[in-house]
Amino acid sequence: MRRERSGEVKAFASLFHGRQDAFGLMQGEKIMAVRRPVTLLHYRLHLEGKLRLGIYPLLPGGMTHFLALDFDGSLAEESAFEAFTCTLHFGLPLAWEISKSRGVHLWLFFSAPVSARAARRVARMLLEEAGVQAEIFPKQDALPEGGLGNFIWLPLSGGSVRQGRTLFVDPTHLLPHPDQRKYLSTIEKISPEKLAQLVDLNGLKEDETVHHRTEKTRIFSGDLLPCAKRMLEGVEEGCRDMAAFRLAIHLKSRGYSIEETERLLQEGNATKNRPPLAARVISAKVRSAYLRGYSGYGCEDPLIIPFCEESCPIKQKMLTALYVAEENP
Ligand code: SF4
Repeated sequence: MRRERSGEVKAFASLFHGRQDAFGLMQGEKIMAVRRPVTLLHYRLHLEGKLRLGIYPLLPGGMTHFLALDFDGSLAEESAFEAFTCTLHFGLPLAWEISKSRGVHLWLFFSAPVSARAARRVARMLLEEAGVQAEIFPKQDALPEGGLGNFIWLPLSGGSVRQGRTLFVDPTHLLPHPDQRKYLSTIEKISPEKLAQLVDLNGLKEDETVHHRTEKTRIFSGDLLPCAKRMLEGVEEGCRDMAAFRLAIHLKSRGYSIEETERLLQEGNATKNRPPLAARVISAKVRSAYLRGYSGYGCEDPLIIPFCEESCPIKQKMLTALYVAEENP
């Protein structure tokens, strides 16, 4: 059994940092919640394969240091790949672990504790954008009275490592990184500001009821963002699917009913798209945008970039955030 060096144990513990006064443990066949402080010794014994350690990600105050998406079942790899690809568009660096059950854990780490509620909203948006399902850790936005939430088993779990499980892999070929400890030291963490920006830009602050604005509060197309206005003028082959979907999301966020949106998009498609899409494709895009709770404008999608304008208030926010991040590295 490899004896773990203390520097590596500390680095591992600081990455998989959860609640400090409790942990999960596998003893024999039994899963236990232990209400005692988790120490470096627990992490060391986990890495050495002498115990299996679970960490409670949800901290008192509803904060978390990381987010994990847990994909299980026969479609685990496929679904994780969809979610992983989606997160690339949002500039989020996910670490891909083959879990003990041969499912997939996708991990996202933060450079400082963030609100679990905000992190989970972003996770839900990513899963919706990717059209897949996964369990999200932390599983709760806030701690139940006297409760701990749910723990997640940590990767690099002794005996499983030798069977090629609980290892981090290169998502392109799904081959384990040759030096797991070295790989962990290269994982990029995202800042709370970046998370806040994602929440802000994708309209995740408000509840889903934001989409049900009334006729009275609705402003017609003058209220639409520049890319939406340009797409409404008609688009070429190659962009039509993307444009229909994004336009439906824009219109939904402006309070249009699904029927109004479908009517507008069908008219625009028939008269302005070059050549028009089949009407049933437009219907499917509108349904998907409304029924699955999408809310992002897709600013990172390469297909939308030709329709984007510097004057857009969202673009200005992104540029300001980038400027602030560069000024305060
Ligand atoms: S930043 Fe560009 S792509 Fe994003 S909403 Fe504004 S105009 Fe559209």
